[in-house]
Amino acid sequence: MPFDGLPSRHRYALTVSQSVTEQVLAEQLAEVGGEVLRPYRLTGLDHDAAGAVARFDAATVRTRWVIAADGIHSTVRTAVGIPFTGQADAESFVLADVLMDSTLPREGASIFLARGGPLVWVPLPDEQVRLVATVTDPPAEPDAAYLQRILDQRGPAARPDRVHEVLWSSRFRQHRRIAETFRAGPILLAGDAGHVHSPAGGQGMNLGICDAVDLGETLAEVLAGGPDSLLDEYAARRRPLADEVAGFADRLTRLAVVPPPARPARDALLRLVSTLPPVRRRVALRLSGLHQRA
Ligand SMILES: Cc1cc2nc3c(=O)[nH]c(=O)nc-3n(C[C@H](O)[C@H](O)[C@H](O)COP(=O)(O)OP(=O)(O)OC[C@H]3O[C@@H](n4cnc5c(N)ncnc54)[C@H](O)[C@@H]3O)c2cc1C
Repeated sequence: MPFDGLPSRHRYALTVSQSVTEQVLAEQLAEVGGEVLRPYRLTGLDHDAAGAVARFDAATVRTRWVIAADGIHSTVRTAVGIPFTGQADAESFVLADVLMDSTLPREGASIFLARGGPLVWVPLPDEQVRLVATVTDPPAEPDAAYLQRILDQRGPAARPDRVHEVLWSSRFRQHRRIAETFRAGPILLAGDAGHVHSPAGGQGMNLGICDAVDLGETLAEVLAGGPDSLLDEYAARRRPLADEVAGFADRLTRLAVVPPPARPARDALLRLVSTLPPVRRRVALRLSGLHQRA
């Protein structure tokens, strides 16, 4: 799916590890005078109409608002009792950053819709490659031999990849959950605290960053004298967007893991539709998240 026709100054897909993104965001925050204080662990939270009291290991803070940006297991969301409804899927994923010999092109990601399940091959900086594969019951830290077996079964057949070194590997269970509301009085949800879904399509962090931008602008309006109801509008605006992105990621995942008898039909269909320019444009727009831009 080529990104060069996107309505953006950034007409490309960029694959960097999340630590790079976090560093860029932390530098931006420092530039505008903010600072991330570490380590601070939120251990308790009370709230009323006037604000909230947040308790940390060694400090208590009274504040007008609390933004729950504390991820899938959000302490804030749990303390406030906002239900996080949905389910965990049966499928597990293996995830690994490796050094390898490969002849696959490094300008884009490759996806193998193999009989045993999908394998995603993503080039990272410094000659690294990220591998993602759906597997039943994977080990906690897949090693080189395990990853090599997956590559042999699902990867390029003519010129097989060879894993040299596993830099990091893990497994995870896929969840699809959305918070029932993104606001409870002075508590506002953003990012994975409000929504988690399949990583197919790489949408989760982008969606969370868009929550944060929207919430930042909305809070600035309220601080400048705007009505408090603007924050209700934030919550009402973001939840359906999260639902829509989660649905798209879910459809991509189901397409990747269709039962074996349906795979030849799926492959033929994908081969056909992926050559159609309007389809390619639409999918690129969705994958970039630009379809949500006002
Ligand atoms: C395998 C995988 C691949 C993915 N690939 C992509 C991708 O390609 N593109 C994409 O856009 N997204 C991707 N995502 C999703 C992305 O990683 C998440 O959406 C994103 O990390 C969510 O950011 P967040 O800040 O909301 O939560 P998190 O990244 O979970 O951060 C939450 C933070 O809160 C802190 N915290 C938690 N509890 C407390 C507490 N009590 N006190 C103090 N601090 C606390 C945690 O330490 C952590 O620093 C992927 C996810 C997975 C699992």
